[in-house]
Amino acid sequence: MSRNLNLIFLGPPGAGKGTQAKMIVDKYNIPQISTGDLMRAAVSSGSSMGDKVKGYMAAGALVPDDLVVEILLDRLSGDDCRDGFILDGFPRTVGQAESLEKALEKRGMKLSGVVAMMVPDEALLKRLTARRICKECSASYHLEFLKPKVEGKCDRCQGELYQRKDDSEEVILNRLKVYHDQTAPLIDFYQKRKALYTVDGNKKIEMIFSEICDIIDSLN
Ligand code: AMP
Repeated sequence: MSRNLNLIFLGPPGAGKGTQAKMIVDKYNIPQISTGDLMRAAVSSGSSMGDKVKGYMAAGALVPDDLVVEILLDRLSGDDCRDGFILDGFPRTVGQAESLEKALEKRGMKLSGVVAMMVPDEALLKRLTARRICKECSASYHLEFLKPKVEGKCDRCQGELYQRKDDSEEVILNRLKVYHDQTAPLIDFYQKRKALYTVDGNKKIEMIFSEICDIIDSLN
């Protein structure tokens, strides 16, 4: 690839950021960086960072900016991010967006674009309560609309599927509230920077993917 592709996928939990990011990874060969995945890995490893973040995650609250920014910037220094990256689930507050902006500027890097996926809350609740995730590759399935070929097994890597603890109805409702209060203001933030591209996340996965590819191909 001859140009850097530094992307952000913005949207509420369950909007399809992770699903679309995985498809973009395959097509454009840039890594997906999910702060949720990075922190779940920290929790599973029992590291001190994991201990610090697990209470927030279990409640569906945001992990404090300084901790998430530290994890994210460390990951962005990886060699595999040289040609670009897709941020999935980061930034989630204006403070995080400002830290990212400063960090990219310092590294002589620039955002290529922010893709915002819009889905109504009722649809998100239905998606998330029936969501199952692969333990190995974090691919996402739905018990009704996106069933795996073999029950309980990932189509991509045969990993075991599980339900995330924070995909319970009570925690989802809190995550949606947190999204509207703290993350939705980023739509305005990136609109002001003329970096925002909006897609309807309530369409078929392939159709959304095609729209996102058109957006990416139009970026310079
Ligand atoms: P996700 O996998 O993106 O849905 O994230 C799961 C949980 O991880 C969230 O509910 C938060 O507790 C935490 N988290 C992930 N990304 C962030 C972020 N950028 N800022 C704060 N907390 C985050």
